[in-house]
Amino acid sequence: MKKAIITGITGQDAAYLAELLLDKGYKVYGTYRRTSSTNFWRIEELAVDQHPNLTLLEYDLIDLSSAYRIISEIEPDEIYNLAAQSFVGVSFTQPIATAQITGIGAMNLLEAIRSINPKIKFYQASTSEMFGKVHAIPQNEDTPFHPRSPYGVAKVFAHWATLNYQESYGLFATSGILFNHESPLRGKEFVTRKITDAVAKIHLGKQDLLELGNMDAKRDWGYAKEYVDGMYRMLQIDEPGTFVLATNQTQTVRDFVSLAFNAIDVNLEWKGKEENEIGIDANTGKTLIKVNPKFYRPAEVDLLIGDASKANDKLEWKPKTTLKELCDMMVKKDIERNENGSTF
Ligand code: NDP
Ligand code: GDP
Repeated sequence: MKKAIITGITGQDAAYLAELLLDKGYKVYGTYRRTSSTNFWRIEELAVDQHPNLTLLEYDLIDLSSAYRIISEIEPDEIYNLAAQSFVGVSFTQPIATAQITGIGAMNLLEAIRSINPKIKFYQASTSEMFGKVHAIPQNEDTPFHPRSPYGVAKVFAHWATLNYQESYGLFATSGILFNHESPLRGKEFVTRKITDAVAKIHLGKQDLLELGNMDAKRDWGYAKEYVDGMYRMLQIDEPGTFVLATNQTQTVRDFVSLAFNAIDVNLEWKGKEENEIGIDANTGKTLIKVNPKFYRPAEVDLLIGDASKANDKLEWKPKTTLKELCDMMVKKDIERNENGSTF
């Protein structure tokens, strides 16, 4: 029976990956950091929390000694490093913590693997945020990095550390450069889920208005469940490497808002520009969306669109879910949660 450690088991991707690996017969060790009220709602919602082959254990990414301990005790075949301070917005207010968790955290694991058992396969959760300022369209494995946030900077460090341990010590250390991927399990601090949750509340008469920041940012949004399958595939091939996972489609935040309102049969009209922009219900004339500059970031990533041809060729990986299907799925789930009084 293969053994895998997944760091960040309370997060979106780890929940889907745990489900996938358990289905494949793995013994899965999901790590979480100790807090006064750790929340396992995602693995509970997927009903994998009680699986006999899932073990949960405490581990903080910045604690090198714990990395040594868990890897020595578990002797895993594969480690998926999904834990991170993963929110770009917070990285501007907590840059040092982000560097330590998201950057050094990955190196702690690499260092422990190198000295305990260099045969352990390692997956690093890299991100399209590393591309940052637009230097090429679409972005692929050869596009230069120009990160625009402390989060992006920390992820570039972790990405190069992964490649460096691969080149220097022959580790099977792979980096997946994943473009934004969403799902009903996405955290509400991220724009898609903030939108779908608000749309659900507006639909149920629990909220009047949604305030957002930069409506012009363009993202390549895919479905998280399909992206974790790509992560798994990256560790099953013969050689480590770097792979982009993306849909090769890009939409503005405004487009996503319109799609989300379409899911409750509301058509929006857009008026004004930048901080004066509003979104109005075309039927009733009611203002449903306002821009609030407090959600603007000190530096923005304007346009992300990925080219996943390499993953398509070498991993036979291809995304299937359209943005409309994804958006409908998220709005539907958020309506259900809000009707049930769920706060997640
Ligand atoms: P989430 O934000 O949902 O999950 C992040 C996880 O990291 C949580 O379990 C969180 O725990 C944990 N974590 C945070 N700080 C620490 C720490 N100091 N020690 C241990 N664990 C910690 O992220 P996603 O599932 O969306 O993403 C998974 C990974 O992929 C992340 O590394 C992210 O940066 C990266 N990524 C994500 C993309 C996306 O669009 N989703 C795109 C590209 C990359 P807690 O619940 O306690 O906060
Ligand atoms: P990111 O791509 O990892 O930063 O994912 P996010 O979902 O946090 O943000 C995606 C884009 O939406 C960024 O360009 C944000 O500036 C933009 N955006 C606009 N309004 C908001 C908002 O209210 N919250 C968040 N999180 N992002 C917003």
